[in-house]
Amino acid sequence: MKLSEENLVGKIFNRWEVIKFSHKIGYNKYFVCKCLDCNKEKTLYIQNITSGKSKSCGCKSKSETAYNINKKYNEYEVSGNTVKVYIDNDKEKIMLCDLEDWETLKECYWRENAEGYAVAINNYKTIIFHREVLGLKNPKIQADHINGRKLDNRKINLRSCSNQENSFNKYENSNNSSGYKGVYFDKTRNKWRGAIQYNGKSMKSPKRYDTPEEAYQWYIEKSNELFKEYSVFNSRE
Ligand SMILES: [Zn+2]
Repeated sequence: MKLSEENLVGKIFNRWEVIKFSHKIGYNKYFVCKCLDCNKEKTLYIQNITSGKSKSCGCKSKSETAYNINKKYNEYEVSGNTVKVYIDNDKEKIMLCDLEDWETLKECYWRENAEGYAVAINNYKTIIFHREVLGLKNPKIQADHINGRKLDNRKINLRSCSNQENSFNKYENSNNSSGYKGVYFDKTRNKWRGAIQYNGKSMKSPKRYDTPEEAYQWYIEKSNELFKEYSVFNSRE
C-alpha cells in the first residue's frame, strides 16, 4: 500500500485512528493520530503506525496492568460449551457452568460459601453464581439445583420458583412424598413413579413401580444419563 494522504485518513491501525496529514521530514510522513481508547491525539511517524510498531498510546495497557495486579481469577478449563471452574482455585472444588455465562462471570473471583454455593464479591456486593445465571434480582424468588449439586451451575441444572409449578418438587413436599429425591406416589394407579427435571421440563418414568426404591432406581439411571458429568443422589434434601 502506498502511504498517501488520501488513503490513510480515517483508517484504523490497532488502537490508532489516522486523523490528518501533519508534515514531512525528508521522505518521512507524520500524521495526527487519535487513540481509540482515550481520544488523545498525537503526531506520529506514520510508518510506525502502519507497521504496527506503535499499537496504542499506552493508556490501556497501563490501566490493564494495574487492574491485573490487584485481581485474582479462577483457573478453568473449557470443554465444548461447558466450563469446569476451580472454586477457590482448589482442584477438588469443581463448578460446572455454560461457556456463555462464564464469559461475563469470569471477571469475578469465585469462592464457596458456608452453604456450598459459588459466590463472589462484585462492586462491594456478594453475588451468587446460579442467581446471576438465572438473572434473578428479587431475593424472594428462589432457585434450586435440579440434581442436588450446588456447584453444577449449568442452565440445564437450574430452575427458579417461577417454573416450580411444573416441577416434581410439589410431590416431594406433599404427603405422597417418598423421601427419595425424584420419587412420588401416583394416587391414580396406587404406584410409585420417578420424575426428573431436564431442560425445564419434567420427565416421568414410563413405568410405575410397587416400591419407591424401584422408582428411585429409575431416577438414578435417568439422572446418570442426563447429567453425565456428575450426579449426586441425596435421598433426602
Ligand atoms: Zn490512549
